[in-house]
Amino acid sequence: MKICLLASGSGGNSIYVQNGSSGVLIDAGLTGKKIEERLHSRNINPARVQAIVVSHEHADHIKGVGVLARRYGMPVWMTQGTLNASKQTFRGTEQIRVLENDESFSIGDLSFQAFQLPHDAADPVNFSVTDGRAEVAVATDMGTVTQLVYQRMRSADLVIIETNYDRDLLMNGPYPWDLKMRISGTHGHLSNHGAAEALCNLAAEGLQRAVLAHLSEKNNRPNLARKTCIHQLRGHGIRDFSLCVAEQDRPSEVFEV
Ligand SMILES: [Zn+2]
Ligand SMILES: [Zn+2]
Repeated sequence: MKICLLASGSGGNSIYVQNGSSGVLIDAGLTGKKIEERLHSRNINPARVQAIVVSHEHADHIKGVGVLARRYGMPVWMTQGTLNASKQTFRGTEQIRVLENDESFSIGDLSFQAFQLPHDAADPVNFSVTDGRAEVAVATDMGTVTQLVYQRMRSADLVIIETNYDRDLLMNGPYPWDLKMRISGTHGHLSNHGAAEALCNLAAEGLQRAVLAHLSEKNNRPNLARKTCIHQLRGHGIRDFSLCVAEQDRPSEVFEV
């Protein structure tokens, strides 16, 4: 299975997953044109994408979904709550597949498992995906790591986990107080420390690879997210761990699992 984070951060998110001839986008939170450009930059023909699975209705996950669905006739998978909250994205001509927030489903050779996360959206989910051999879990847009989210990450070979903000940068930064509280609340976003703690527990159980994702442009720095996680992993005696930070402005490397 191959995975490329086409974009990651508060300005837009999209992850391409491929296994053999099956290619799927998890979210399309840039314009349709930008998603196409980023796919092309990794030698992926957008016409090969078979479906878009959508985590929730926030613009940084859904901006390009309607355009791509209409242009390529790709079906879009989402929960009813997400659909209700994103009606303005669609014109009625797209193929929408409504999924339950704990549903497992297949697209080509890829099997997806949706799972709920605590986030301030209508019915947010994220996904773990497997080709039957390896498994990847995407866990972004969550205020806390619930037991369910932890269980989904636990079985994965590669975890894509949110490191949205550094607590000091957020608290001393320019955002109004209520927004700071929303971001750092249980249904907001995950901090560097929150992710680091989860990674330490997962690494103790055998996880060896993670991608840090969905960084805030204002309240985080790639180096800070990485340092916080590495520092905590080392503190737990874990040295052999592969950690990448996904970026907003360019696609990640292509991860093979
Ligand atoms: Zn969100
Ligand atoms: Zn988001």
